Amino acid sequence: MAYYSSRLDFFCHLCGTTLIVPSSEYAQCPLCKTLRDIQDIRDKEISYTITAEEIRRELGMEIIEEQKVQLSKVNKKCEKCGHDEANFYTRQMRSADEGQTTFYTCTRCGHQSQEN
Ligand SMILES: [Zn+2]
Ligand SMILES: [Zn+2]
Repeated sequence: MAYYSSRLDFFCHLCGTTLIVPSSEYAQCPLCKTLRDIQDIRDKEISYTITAEEIRRELGMEIIEEQKVQLSKVNKKCEKCGHDEANFYTRQMRSADEGQTTFYTCTRCGHQSQEN
C-alpha cells in the first residue's frame, strides 16, 4: 500500500503527467513545469524500501530455519498409499535424553509419520 502511494507521488498533482527528476533536489512536471521537492518523494520511497527489506528479512529467516532441518529422501514404504519414497528429517527434542525424532513425509501423498 505504501508502494502505491509513493508511486502516485511521481505524478504531477495538477495535470497527472509523470514527473521527471532533473536534479537531486526536485522533480518537475515536463508538461506544466510544476516543481516538487524530491525530499518529499524520497522519504516515502525510503519508508517503502525499509518495509520491503523487513519483509524480505523475515522471509529470509524462515528460509534459514528450514535449511537447518536436514531434508533428504529415503526408501520408506508409505503406510497410506504404499509409495516407497519419503522425505525425512530429524529433529532433536528439547531434552537430550529424549533423543531424536525422525519425521517422514511421503513424496506422493504427503502422508506424515514419525519414529523415535
Ligand atoms: Zn503538470
Ligand atoms: Zn503416501
